[in-house]
Amino acid sequence: MDSLTEPAAGVAGQLTIIATPIGNLDDLSLRAQRAISSAALILVEDRRHAQRLFQHLGVRPKTLALHEHNERALAPQIAQRIAAGEHIALLSDAGMPLISDPGFPLLALLRERQLPVTIIPGPNAALAALALSGLPSDRFSFEGFLPAKAGARRARLQALQREARSMIFYEAPHRIGETLADMAELWGPDRGAALCRELTKMYEECLRDSLGGLVALLQAHPDKVRGEMTLVVAGAPEQTQEVTDADQLLSPLLAELPLAQAVRIAANQSGMAHRFLYARALVLTSDQGPA
Ligand code: SAM
Repeated sequence: MDSLTEPAAGVAGQLTIIATPIGNLDDLSLRAQRAISSAALILVEDRRHAQRLFQHLGVRPKTLALHEHNERALAPQIAQRIAAGEHIALLSDAGMPLISDPGFPLLALLRERQLPVTIIPGPNAALAALALSGLPSDRFSFEGFLPAKAGARRARLQALQREARSMIFYEAPHRIGETLADMAELWGPDRGAALCRELTKMYEECLRDSLGGLVALLQAHPDKVRGEMTLVVAGAPEQTQEVTDADQLLSPLLAELPLAQAVRIAANQSGMAHRFLYARALVLTSDQGPA
């Protein structure tokens, strides 16, 4: 249902989640335009920001600011209004509400109270960047923003070291250099990546390179460390069965014996090539563990 006009008496209203442009205002769908124009009340992340969109549409809807600092407190009264029959819309500053944006406490409450919710889907920076990246898009992991503090960020990256799916990160320009350098160090500089900037805007750009290549590129071109950016990184290469078998055989031997002796015993037991086992043993005994 598109219309957010007056509810019928005695019928519960509904929340409509509306995706809005991530840059180019022409990306606002016709359904979204109609819904915004007819809404009785619109929940917006930032009133001034939303005004730009409303001016573009030539509408002056009734708004209520819903942001990370008040969304828990406001959720019960919004749910009550919906239960009483009001049709309310939810927008964020850009893209899909709830995706690294406010809305979750409200949606959780509406779910608990079994109140109706619908959606007008549309732009989203994460999916736009993934599609543009040229990296595997069949399975992926959305990681949102990494922790701002270096220690917590590196711990999160270490936990993601073996993630085999493509990963999508939102990142701020002043942190992208450090983040890419940490990724290159912890995951290896050869992993494929794509840094997508200013999507749908005049200076849209998608830099497709390895992690190490992107570090060097941003150092050489500080002008590219600007604007809104989404980073997509290829997942860790899947381990072959041969690698898994070799690691399983070598690990207990390496715990007890010098490397050369462990490799010799493993080669005798398995018939696997000595050179291959030696290379795995080096990886297993390195600081970073198996790769
Ligand atoms: N809910 C939004 C969505 O659906 O994409 C994301 C909101 S999050 C607070 C904002 C982050 O999204 C930015 O810091 C940036 O990482 C990414 N982003 C938003 N617009 C973008 C654009 N035009 N190009 C690249 N990344 C963008």
